[in-house]
Amino acid sequence: MITHHLSDKLLMAYSAGSLPEAFNLAVASHIAMCDECRARLASFDAVGGALLDQGPEGREPMTKGALEATLERIKSTAPTPRQRKSVSQNATLPGPLQQYVGEDVAGIKWRSVGNGVRQMIIPTSAQATARLLYIPAGVAVPDHGHGGMELTLVLQGAFEDQSDWFGRGDIEVADESTEHQPVAAPGADCICLAVTDAPLKFRGLLPRLAQPFLGI
Ligand code: ZN
Ligand code: ZN
Repeated sequence: MITHHLSDKLLMAYSAGSLPEAFNLAVASHIAMCDECRARLASFDAVGGALLDQGPEGREPMTKGALEATLERIKSTAPTPRQRKSVSQNATLPGPLQQYVGEDVAGIKWRSVGNGVRQMIIPTSAQATARLLYIPAGVAVPDHGHGGMELTLVLQGAFEDQSDWFGRGDIEVADESTEHQPVAAPGADCICLAVTDAPLKFRGLLPRLAQPFLGI
C-alpha cells in the first residue's frame, strides 16, 4: 500500500520530458510501482499533448474533442519509449531501474560507506546524482545535505523519520526545508533509490518547466 506519492509539479515536469536523467529515473521507477501516479501521469500527458497540438496561439480553452482525441492517441501508442527493454516483473527493482543496474539486487556492485551502509552510484548525466542505498535494519541513513531537492524511493524494507514511515514503493520528496534523520525500520534491511540535484541547479527548473501548464 503506497501512501507517499509524486507531486503534481514532478509529474508535470516528467511529462514535459525535461527532468535531469537521475530524477527521470526516480519518477519512472515510482510510476512503475504505483497505479495511482501512472494514472495521474496519463492525464498530464494528455493535457500537455493537447497544448502542443494547439500551437503557439493556443489560448482558446481546450475543446472536449481535442482532449478525447489526445487520450485516444495515447492509448494507441503503447509501448512507450520509456519501457523499451523487457524487464522482469515482480522483482525488487522496478523496470526503469533494471535498465541501469540489471534485473537482480544480487548483481549490484555495492561499496561500503561505513556503519554497514552500502551504496552504488548509478551513472547518469551530471545535473543530478542517483544512488542505490543499502541500509541494515535499525541503522540510520548517513548524513546527507539537502542543498536542493531529494527524492528517496523505497525498494525493499522501510525507513522512518521523526514524522513519517515509508514502505516499499513510497517516495519521499525532500528539499532544503526538510530536516530529518531517516532510520531503516527494524526487521528488514532497507534498499532505497536516492536522487539529489547538484547544488542550485535544480531550483527554479521545476517552476520553469511547469510554467506552460500553469495557465490552464
Ligand atoms: Zn504514486
Ligand atoms: Zn534526506
